[in-house]
Amino acid sequence: MTLEPQDSAGRHGPPAGGPPRWRRRLSGLAAAILLALAKLKTIALFALHIPMLGSALTFVLSAWVYGASFGWTFGVGFALLLLLHELGHFVVIRRYGLPAGAPIFIPFLGAAIFLRQQPQSPQQEYAIAAAGPLAGTLASLAALLLGILLAQPVLRSLAYFGFLLQAFNLIPLWPLDGGRMVAAVDRHIWWVGIPLLLVVVWLSRSPIGLIIVALLLWQFFSQRRMASPDRYVAPAQRLAFGIGWIVMAIANLGLARIAGG
Ligand SMILES: [Zn+2]
Repeated sequence: MTLEPQDSAGRHGPPAGGPPRWRRRLSGLAAAILLALAKLKTIALFALHIPMLGSALTFVLSAWVYGASFGWTFGVGFALLLLLHELGHFVVIRRYGLPAGAPIFIPFLGAAIFLRQQPQSPQQEYAIAAAGPLAGTLASLAALLLGILLAQPVLRSLAYFGFLLQAFNLIPLWPLDGGRMVAAVDRHIWWVGIPLLLVVVWLSRSPIGLIIVALLLWQFFSQRRMASPDRYVAPAQRLAFGIGWIVMAIANLGLARIAGG
């Protein structure tokens, strides 16, 4: 779709006896802004229809926003950590033959991959959910080891925030990764996830945290039926899944302590 605004104002000059000069200038400026907005909208619509391009553009935007706030090495590194986390999900989704969109990066809110079809079983949802934090943990571990080996504090702080990011995603509240994982263990754990999320965001004292809480709670209460069908999972498998989830959460908290220390 292409939007062409009327750009005649100011360009050809008004007829004699037209509006005063300041008004002509103003309408010229308005036309220029409209034109720029229309171009932006066209580009945005175009980008969102080509999944990889949407990913690339939002990736660059995120890296730029984080870079402008915390330095370029950190900005690009953090966007890469988000990318690896999402690729972890992506690989398993595709392995199950489910359709998935390319990841979209939203500055300060993280990144997301859109499932176009719900997982067929709690086991599938567990594997898809666990793959993201697993990839993110390994990437953060690589950053930590490199940071220690090369004596680069920026890599160490990248690892620190990387581990915290994985730990946050492991909060057992659907649709967070942890919530999708515990769906295969016992869905009652979701109700522990709500106070846990509130405590974590209160500790972070971040205004963006409030937006994240609002979005997550809205999704939880309105869309949790989109989770995989609640089918029978053998008790031994529930136990193994539960241990896997707890181990990942504790490992990331412990590693964050090491990276931050
Ligand atoms: Zn994830």
